[in-house]
Amino acid sequence: MRLLLIEDDDLLRTTLAADLERAGFAVDVAADGETGEFLGATEHYDAVVLDLGLPRLPGIDVLQRWRAAGVTSPVIVLTARDQWHERVEGLKAGADDYLGKPFHFEELLARIQVLLRRGPSHAMPLRCGGVELDERKQCAIVDGTRTEILTALEFRLLRCFMLRRGEVLSRSWLASHVYGLDADPDSNVIEVYVNRLRNKLGRDLIRTRRGQGYVFDGAS
Ligand code: CA
Repeated sequence: MRLLLIEDDDLLRTTLAADLERAGFAVDVAADGETGEFLGATEHYDAVVLDLGLPRLPGIDVLQRWRAAGVTSPVIVLTARDQWHERVEGLKAGADDYLGKPFHFEELLARIQVLLRRGPSHAMPLRCGGVELDERKQCAIVDGTRTEILTALEFRLLRCFMLRRGEVLSRSWLASHVYGLDADPDSNVIEVYVNRLRNKLGRDLIRTRRGQGYVFDGAS
């Protein structure tokens, strides 16, 4: 397993790299954001440990550039202690986990192992079938060019479809996931919203399976 460690503190970087190598990983290191960003974008790493406070390019920018470029390596960010907003920014920018400084090496190791078991990052933007879902703006980008604003229900419905692409989803399953369990939704309304999504995204993306429900076809 190959790791990338981006940390500008010389002592911490050297110590962590040695500990990670002893734990059985191949470790590449970078001491600034620019070098780290280049390595992460051009080499394949099974996981990345990324400090957020970095010279030349902040860790948040490194992460955003990777995610925009489709880099799927899972990333754990190192944040200053008690800086909750750094943790939120890191997760929003596409981090899979975070760890506040100072930390015990054993905790970092355990978190890296969890990420490695999960495989490629789950923090990537949802993108399939020529549609990308922008969670922050609650809109869909179609074929990389056209932006479709979604209502709250359309957004929730599309997210359900994209997270479970290729699966047959019944109207009642969709209704309970779009409205929440407390509501008593009329599952016929789902048909109305499916048709609205078809009008916005294209007719063929969501297929009807008679008597079963719908399938979001994200293969193309
Ligand atoms: Ca730092």
